[in-house]
Amino acid sequence: MSAITQSQRSLRAGGGTAEDIRDRNLSSLLGWLHRDGALSRAELTRLSGLNRSTVGVVIGDLVALGLVSEGPAVVSGAGRPSSVVVPDAATVAIAVNPEVDALNVGLVGFSGRVLRRARIPWNGPVTVDEVVQAAAAVVAGMTSDTDVPWRIVGAGIAVPGQVRLSDGLVREATHLGWSEEPLAAKMSAALGVPAQAANAAALALRAESAFGAGRDADDLFYIIGGASGIGGGAVIGGRLALGANGHAGEVGHIFVADNGRLCHCGARGCFETEVSRDELLAVLDLPVAQADFLAERLRVSDDPEVAALLDRYRGILRRVVSTVVNLFNPSTIIIGGFLASVIDGVDPADIVGESIRSAQEGLRVLTGSTDVDLLLVGAAELVFSELIASPSVLMGGTQQP
Ligand SMILES: [Zn+2]
Repeated sequence: MSAITQSQRSLRAGGGTAEDIRDRNLSSLLGWLHRDGALSRAELTRLSGLNRSTVGVVIGDLVALGLVSEGPAVVSGAGRPSSVVVPDAATVAIAVNPEVDALNVGLVGFSGRVLRRARIPWNGPVTVDEVVQAAAAVVAGMTSDTDVPWRIVGAGIAVPGQVRLSDGLVREATHLGWSEEPLAAKMSAALGVPAQAANAAALALRAESAFGAGRDADDLFYIIGGASGIGGGAVIGGRLALGANGHAGEVGHIFVADNGRLCHCGARGCFETEVSRDELLAVLDLPVAQADFLAERLRVSDDPEVAALLDRYRGILRRVVSTVVNLFNPSTIIIGGFLASVIDGVDPADIVGESIRSAQEGLRVLTGSTDVDLLLVGAAELVFSELIASPSVLMGGTQQP
């Protein structure tokens, strides 16, 4: 089970009114369909633990809400005929990811499917208002396609910085030059749908946890290196660790070096100031615009300066990974972004080797997705997890005839 399905775990417990039970059952089935895509009635019955007649009623409700459609009953194997239930393909979240060098916008459907995407390169710093206007223009273009009756449930924004989850206020996004910006509120006003924002690395973790390498991991730690620094997060016992203010997982600010470089957070010797993508690009003489070739160039380089830097980076990463293994005892560590290139060809046992031995038992070290859609899928999870938590509340008032 992954963080995205955490609501399903609590669904089986607890009583409440008939209305509560109905809502929980709607959530449960929609959650499985989001996670796995199309499923037969028989599979939904098995996965949800509900009885067949209840599953039939719940599917009827989901069809009435326009969230799923159901095909004719088919026989598969020795079982009785069972119809296939498919999540609605036109129900989408708008996903927005402003980065230092570009704005990424997408329409994302159930099951993390990116149906439309656009990338607008930037030249220099951008304001929140410019990002909001550009995103609204891109979305207007995408949804003008009248062949598809898009039903937009909301918008999710992945921000390289610290974001207050309750209202999507960007507390600080140093690399974008933003501070105390009501990004979600402005985006919501411009797009005309509810909008939420969260830290980009935490959303990349949600995407990995729901659909990627961390899909079946209940105890997972994620570290991702990007253009704007290093972030990450933890899934503990199937739940995403948010922290009191939603800022848990700032692994980039783990202290790694005495007398280290000054970090924008005010401290010295933080992981993300001692290990950076731009330093790797510089030692390889690779322009930022060609950062996509970083992994390949690292692999073929025989420059001793490059080897020495990689050696230093691996030593620091080993210390960071050992720290999180000792703290969280994860079953899975996912290392993504440019950090995946840093550990390319390294024995995973070597990366976790400084943590306590009993915590290393069964520990998997995996490479994260480098898919450009990762952050769009993660941003959309903000919207879909809310929809799945209360489908009838969110869709009841906006249901189309
Ligand atoms: Zn720092």
